[in-house]
Amino acid sequence: MADNIFDQKIIDNCVRCGLCLASCPTYVVKGVETSSPRGRISILNAVNKGNLHLMDAGVVSQIYECLDCRACEAVCPSGVQYGKLVESARDLIEKERAPRYSLQVRLIRAIALRGLFFRRWLFVAFAFLMLLYQRSGLQWLARKSGILKLLRLAAMEEMLPHIDFPFVRPGQKGWQAQGVEKHKVALFAGCIMSTAFSGIDSATGRVLAKNGTTVEVPKEQWCCGALQIHSGDTAGAQDLARRNIAAFEQSDTEYVIINAAGCGAALKEYDHLLHDDPEWRERAITFSRKVRDVSEYLAETGFTPPTANLDLEVTYQEPCHLAHAQRITSQPRRLLKAIPGLRLKEMEDSSLCCGSAGVYNLLNPTIANELVDRKLNNALATGAEVLCTANPGCHIQLEAGLKRQKKSMKVRHIVQLLDEAYRKEEN
Ligand code: SF4
Ligand code: SF4
Repeated sequence: MADNIFDQKIIDNCVRCGLCLASCPTYVVKGVETSSPRGRISILNAVNKGNLHLMDAGVVSQIYECLDCRACEAVCPSGVQYGKLVESARDLIEKERAPRYSLQVRLIRAIALRGLFFRRWLFVAFAFLMLLYQRSGLQWLARKSGILKLLRLAAMEEMLPHIDFPFVRPGQKGWQAQGVEKHKVALFAGCIMSTAFSGIDSATGRVLAKNGTTVEVPKEQWCCGALQIHSGDTAGAQDLARRNIAAFEQSDTEYVIINAAGCGAALKEYDHLLHDDPEWRERAITFSRKVRDVSEYLAETGFTPPTANLDLEVTYQEPCHLAHAQRITSQPRRLLKAIPGLRLKEMEDSSLCCGSAGVYNLLNPTIANELVDRKLNNALATGAEVLCTANPGCHIQLEAGLKRQKKSMKVRHIVQLLDEAYRKEEN
């Protein structure tokens, strides 16, 4: 392995102050330096210096134990871009070990990373099958019979969210601004949001329309590529980014609106993902500048608070990729506080990762379960009835954790609560 395979400038920015340690979920759980951001930066520095090899078991396990939540970035006084380091490490590790994968692992990776997320019809067909599984009674039967445990699918099946229907389709009719049109925007419908959580996409459309925004849903849009980036498949993520940029260039709109924190962070970083591609660099910059999380857009362009009362106690868990990667923390709270009757009860460690992190909860269930239990204990301690978030991964992780703990707290996206208040005022 050649020297300096990682950006030494990023590594050298770390002054080893340790201010990031307390915000790192794996350090909080394990309490050892190697499981901290500073520890992992030292490991990558040692790889650059030739004192460790990238493929050493200890190096690989630390790179994959990290949740890539970027909480360390948000608190680092030196501005160390830790996310870029861990993502490039995963890309290099996958390139090294991919040829040695067993047929089974290759098949799973091909289906999960390249199959489902590159063919929308396949993703929709899969979501539809899951819908039938849930609504036909098959799910009840599978759970009761114990077959899921026998097939070692119980943990994965527990994560299956309640699938919404109808799905939101790219190219479908959008939502027309009510009153004077302030802006025209394009909705990034997402793969999981537009199928499993299509109710959140529809709520987003209605909330934006209520606030003078016409919403289009451009055709030919794809998965954002976040899962591929986190799994070391940079080439796959770049392919998806190019397709999305081309699709949204067809839409003459001022903003690209996204309601999923992880996808939003990925879209805002297409400029970095394609910075080495002379044909796409400028197009990626133009695209990324237009991307806004829905709460960011509403706070930035102005919104009309609902007038109907929602008599609810709500606590807010911050998705890592909203709070740390996009640094959006006040806007969601502003929206929630604007709903009459809603009491926002802050939980402890609202921004500590819930353990979802793409497929981390399936690959590292021990740490992921400890993190979600901490999060839920903090949420439940507030006495709130609703746990609010803004990312499908967190949504799934929190609901699964609540189910496991047999707690009745509901999980909702911010726009679902706003939509509920607006709809109540109309009735
Ligand atoms: S806070 Fe930043 S500079 Fe300090 S140890 Fe962590 S990464 Fe290094
Ligand atoms: S990205 Fe998250 S888990 Fe990884 S080192 Fe930083 S704070 Fe820790």
